[in-house]
Amino acid sequence: MKSIGELLAAKDRGPVITTPPDTTVFEAVTCMVKNNIGAILICDGEEIRGIMTERDYLRFVTDQGRTARNTPVSDLMTAKIVFVTPEAQLSDVGALMTECRIRHVPVMDQGKLVGIVSIGDVVKQISRDRKARIRHLEEYISDTYPR
Ligand code: AMP
Repeated sequence: MKSIGELLAAKDRGPVITTPPDTTVFEAVTCMVKNNIGAILICDGEEIRGIMTERDYLRFVTDQGRTARNTPVSDLMTAKIVFVTPEAQLSDVGALMTECRIRHVPVMDQGKLVGIVSIGDVVKQISRDRKARIRHLEEYISDTYPR
């Protein structure tokens, strides 16, 4: 498997979890906990306005004077989104995440949100692909040079 589109197709997943910009931080974090996810996309209808991750919440907790129940998620989110298309190669996306120091990347196809991948998804798939390749090479060697 080489592309993000293939990874998404193979992944057992529901719809991408999103929330509107005026959701409170408390509601957004509750939604993340309930869905067991580390990032949530902030959307206004079809349009992505930003992303909030666990990291943003940790930063917020140390910010004195504001409460999660009274702060909109739009105050915490990162508005300038780094995204990829389904054609992107796994290794390139892994490199992009490392370079940008992010662990979540939305996948956009012709301007439409079609999924989100985490660094865990990417690393797991690269590791699976490597194991399959090693197995294949071992079989080839033992078939070509039988003992
Ligand atoms: P993460 O490592 O994914 O928890 O994110 C670290 C920081 O980067 C947080 O401030 C996020 O809001 C931001 N971030 C995460 N993913 C993205 C993304 N795809 N585009 C832009 N910023 C992001």
